[in-house]
Amino acid sequence: MVGSQSQSQNEASGKGRLYIIGIGPGSVEQLTVKAREVITSSDYVVGNGTYLDQMASLLDKQNIVRSAMGKEVDRARKAVELAQDNVVSMISGGDANIYGMAGLVLEVAEHANLKVEIEVLPGVTAITAAASVLGAPIVNDFCTVSLSDLLTPWEVIEKRLDAAASADFVMSLYNPKSRQRNSNFSRAVEIIRRHKEDSVPVGLVKNALRDKDQDYIVTTLGEVLNYNDWVDMSTTILIGTNDSRIWDTPYGKRIITPRGYHRKYDY
Ligand code: SAH
Repeated sequence: MVGSQSQSQNEASGKGRLYIIGIGPGSVEQLTVKAREVITSSDYVVGNGTYLDQMASLLDKQNIVRSAMGKEVDRARKAVELAQDNVVSMISGGDANIYGMAGLVLEVAEHANLKVEIEVLPGVTAITAAASVLGAPIVNDFCTVSLSDLLTPWEVIEKRLDAAASADFVMSLYNPKSRQRNSNFSRAVEIIRRHKEDSVPVGLVKNALRDKDQDYIVTTLGEVLNYNDWVDMSTTILIGTNDSRIWDTPYGKRIITPRGYHRKYDY
């Protein structure tokens, strides 16, 4: 929401405004109503090609600034520059705060001493999109770890995996693989197996809640590496706790992580 201080800053610097928008898992129907309104009424929409294509049905009168993967810094600079005098939507997949553009854009804006209001709009992130496909695999304390070592050293990632597994968090793995980093997923599984039992349920979800190509597998930690080749950059992995279980329903397997109601109530 717009605070009074930022409102006056905004008035002082004309009509410029910068929105950083989490567009959700990749289909227009999963956008928030607010995100949809803002994208539709912006002067400029800035994003990488994949996200702009996912939002194509909303792009019409707006000016489009399309940038490639790996060009995030240029994209952030461009958005900040345009926002001096225009209403700009920087779109980011899922939620912009979860391995998304919010951090970089705020850093660039801080550096440029941008005076216009910046508003971050939340989106459905991959862990919750994937969880909805799998049933109820989270429900308790959880953490997310990105296996991308492009910006975080691999030793740090290993330390976080080990700590999270030893505390038996529900764990979600983002960026499990890329062409350059094919073994990160299998290495991560071996670290997690030091602490969690082999019977722990694991869900692999590809293209969760997208218009096409959604697919998923429910397996266990001991067997998940049998599906190593299936895992790609569009996959999010959810690993349960030692209390999670698999429910084999007539319409497919689901994962349940108990919140603890069974300890207090009969049902
Ligand atoms: N900001 C995004 C995450 C960006 S990191 C978000 O909040 O979701 C990119 C990683 O997110 C991918 O490698 C994949 O692990 C995960 N991801 C993003 N969208 C996904 C989807 N629809 N289905 C499954 N995984 C997805």
